[in-house]
Amino acid sequence: MAGSGAFAEILDGDVYKYYADGEWKKSSSGKSVSIVNPTTRTTQYKVQACTQQEVNKVMEAAKVAQKSWAKTPLWKRAELLHKAAAILKGHKTPIAEALVKEIAKPAKDSLTEVVRSGDLISYCAEEGVRILGEGTFLVSDSFPGNERTKYCLSSKIPLGVVLAIPPFNYPVNLAVSKIAPALIAGNSLVLKPPTQGAVACLHMVHCFHLAGFPKGLISCITGKGSEIGDFLTMHPGVNCISFTGGDTGVAISKKAGMVPLQMELGGKDACIVLEDADLDLVAANIVKGGFSYSGQRCTAVKVVLVMESVAEELVEKVKLRVAKLTVGAPEDDCDITPVVSESSANFIEGLVMDAKEKEATFCQEYKREGNLIWPLLLDHVRPDMRIAWEEPFGPVLPVVRIGSIEEGIHHCNASNFGLQGCIFTNDINKAMLISDAMETGTVQINSSPARGPDHFPFQGIKDSGIGSQGITNSINMMTKVKSTVINLPSPSYTMG
Ligand code: NAP
Repeated sequence: MAGSGAFAEILDGDVYKYYADGEWKKSSSGKSVSIVNPTTRTTQYKVQACTQQEVNKVMEAAKVAQKSWAKTPLWKRAELLHKAAAILKGHKTPIAEALVKEIAKPAKDSLTEVVRSGDLISYCAEEGVRILGEGTFLVSDSFPGNERTKYCLSSKIPLGVVLAIPPFNYPVNLAVSKIAPALIAGNSLVLKPPTQGAVACLHMVHCFHLAGFPKGLISCITGKGSEIGDFLTMHPGVNCISFTGGDTGVAISKKAGMVPLQMELGGKDACIVLEDADLDLVAANIVKGGFSYSGQRCTAVKVVLVMESVAEELVEKVKLRVAKLTVGAPEDDCDITPVVSESSANFIEGLVMDAKEKEATFCQEYKREGNLIWPLLLDHVRPDMRIAWEEPFGPVLPVVRIGSIEEGIHHCNASNFGLQGCIFTNDINKAMLISDAMETGTVQINSSPARGPDHFPFQGIKDSGIGSQGITNSINMMTKVKSTVINLPSPSYTMG
């Protein structure tokens, strides 16, 4: 059970502690932040509301701990990460339980998130040993005007203190996708978990604690992003920010100082369906891609752009599958569970009402109870409707009927987002041409968008992000190149 057994020390009464200097602590603020269970809509957990002074202390400790961690042999860093991965997987049940209660993720998917995170840590340790164990050696006489008198040795060194801020929807996985590359590369790490998902993150951090990482190397500061977020992201002690979330990331990128940024933000992933597509495959992918975890995935299918001639048939096939989705509590492993908060549900409802006013076709009746919204397919959506462009982050999927491929590409590229997109066709030549034309970080051919496997590059353009994730890219991003140049005497002194 969450907060008991191996995790008993992270809880004080009914408030979870924060983690600093290798210890679980109560904040001097004496205040806590409530985490509301999206299903029951009552307070499930409480976490410490950390203060600015506590952030300062954590940054100081992170700076000190990083210096000796960077000198710790790479194989030892990897060994500790493998240990943390094993401990995390061994404690998947209480961590998954927290995910179910905090973010209403279906029970099976919650377990999968924890196991996947353990695998990510191990993969990262292995990849780090390989890529950080290599450097480059350059000689000067390849550049015009130079003799062979300079040897340049380059290798990758850590950046210092990495600030990691994940979103609510994959709090554990998107935290470790920042923690593991930062640590293997010799950085220290300060985590600010999302408020919904903080308790699962605190349990995950405890697994690193149990693995025996040095004091101060990893810290976890809790509190509302709106209250301590700016102080953290603008803190002079931070040498790199890895953030995943929504528009907040755009604001952070404007405020952050001269530090490398890894920003994975929102999306409006388009699914372009051509006339020759296998419509059963498309329907299966649209339902899985659009409605898994109630549409609360950055790479959910968020708009279907289907050729008019096959639209009717596709919509019928999707409707049949939507009717089979189970709706209810995450504990019962339902397909559609309550969205994360009442304000999210209200926002989604606003998009639905706008589409209703503008006469979209409702393929199902709109139904909501508390935060629970029944899956809804909206047909005949037009560009003047908000749902055509905005990210609902809920189980509502618009279908826009298109008259040409160009129209589909134009809709996709007119979005301010550019995370992923997908194309369904049996013509690989057309698929490649459309993929080239789509302004997104990734295009999937004949499958719905996905962030994963976790070692694949993953990136958005425009308002969807800066930089690239994926294990190798994250390790590279959290390091910088350091060169040493050996200057030899002029060639007239050559021996032999
Ligand atoms: P969010 O509201 O942007 O929050 C993300 C994180 O930022 C949370 O930890 C939040 O903490 C924190 N935060 C809030 N205000 C802050 C501030 N001023 N400074 C620093 N941090 C601050 O996003 P979300 O609702 O959790 O997640 C949904 C969004 O994430 C969607 O747009 C989705 O598309 C996107 N997403 C993108 C990816 C990707 O890889 N591209 C993956 C998953 C999700 P609090 O919870 O305490 O407010």
